[in-house]
Amino acid sequence: MLNLTKSEKLFAEAKQLMPGGVNSPVRAFLSVGGTPPFIKKGEGAIITDEDGNRYVDFCNSWGPLIFGHAHPAILNAIREAAENGTSFGTPCQYEVELARLIVTRVKHIDMIRFVNSGTEAVMSALRLARAFTGRDKIVKFEGCYHGHSDMMLVNAGSGLATFGISSSLGVPSETARNTAVLPLDDETTVTQFMEKHGKDIAAIAIEPIPANNGLLIQRLEFLKTLRSLCDRFGTVLIFDEVISGFRVQFDGAAGYYGIFPDLVTYGKIIGGGLPVGAYAGRRDLMKMVAPVGKMYQAGTLSGNPLAMAAGIAQLDMLKDGSVYRSLEEKGRHLEEALSAIVRKHNYPITLSRFGSIFWLCFDRKAVRRASDIDPTTMTHYKTMHRFMMENGVYLAPSGYEVGFLSDAHTHEHLDTTVALMARVWKDIF
Ligand SMILES: *Cc1c(COP(=O)(O)O)cnc(C)c1O
Repeated sequence: MLNLTKSEKLFAEAKQLMPGGVNSPVRAFLSVGGTPPFIKKGEGAIITDEDGNRYVDFCNSWGPLIFGHAHPAILNAIREAAENGTSFGTPCQYEVELARLIVTRVKHIDMIRFVNSGTEAVMSALRLARAFTGRDKIVKFEGCYHGHSDMMLVNAGSGLATFGISSSLGVPSETARNTAVLPLDDETTVTQFMEKHGKDIAAIAIEPIPANNGLLIQRLEFLKTLRSLCDRFGTVLIFDEVISGFRVQFDGAAGYYGIFPDLVTYGKIIGGGLPVGAYAGRRDLMKMVAPVGKMYQAGTLSGNPLAMAAGIAQLDMLKDGSVYRSLEEKGRHLEEALSAIVRKHNYPITLSRFGSIFWLCFDRKAVRRASDIDPTTMTHYKTMHRFMMENGVYLAPSGYEVGFLSDAHTHEHLDTTVALMARVWKDIF
């Protein structure tokens, strides 16, 4: 049994001080049960908790740490920046460097604005799309997560092709009614919807590689349809690349698929583990942002020198593309080893993978829609999660969350993980 004495003590106190003891709900371990380990230290692929337990980490802070924990180049960049002061509220050279690094390499963006989180990035991009089109309504897809701004905390209403209802208390129903939630992987529904409402729709927003509710890899045809519908109805296409940007390749899912959005949102990787987000896109759109244009958006700590420095250090190591080849190789290694076990025993498990993003689905086929995930299989995930943790592997504490490989994972880490999964699957089935 894992000794979590110190984590248990901290968690008990944390619950008195912060709702659920956490600052982001999934960390409370409600889906898998038990006490979350309080992490004290990370190095490469390994995290260590307050009780000294060590885990191979496949959460990687939910995606930002593509080089693993405490990479020396990133730590040095932060240290160097911090020596000169932590924030000025004035322009600084780091902002220009990070903007240049991104804008000169990502063909479909002309300008960028940095913010402090993915939530802020998406919220601002939606406002910009509304400012640009003079329309209020937006479309999102069931199973995509875009942060917690009011416009995005919306569920599908009853029946297809209706505007939504809020998925959280505190979201005004007038706001929810401006967001339509449609199914992924379904050209017919989105086409019919746009034919009816297209002239009122400011933006279609999608995670081009949906990775927040399982890994629901979309068909190229579906993404192409969104692009052509946006062209036809003068709607802004927003790719939310907070996870996929700089992870699948430097220019993200847009570059991979060759489908280019009007606006893109970033977060996670661009901050090198510090809090950063950004929205970016075509010059005519970005020129509507204050102080040049009339769409207002601001931030006290936006473009923070430490966060910019960490982002520069990380993107600098990504820009030649070699890391993506090595991550793909590791991803394939993991996939082949796990798939061989699944085939041999005919387990009802499918590994979805896109480069260094992976998701274990307890089903015989890959799913592309949120509604195709069978919630009863989450008990299997819970069993697996507990077993893996007790044996030194940290998976995200929910079966709806994906895993992330980092450059710090070795074949040995992966092989240990595969061997443990084989053991627990045998117990489960
Ligand atoms: C994580 C995430 C967000 C929200 O970013 P935060 O920094 O947590 O606010 C938005 N969109 C996608 C696709 C994400 O994965």
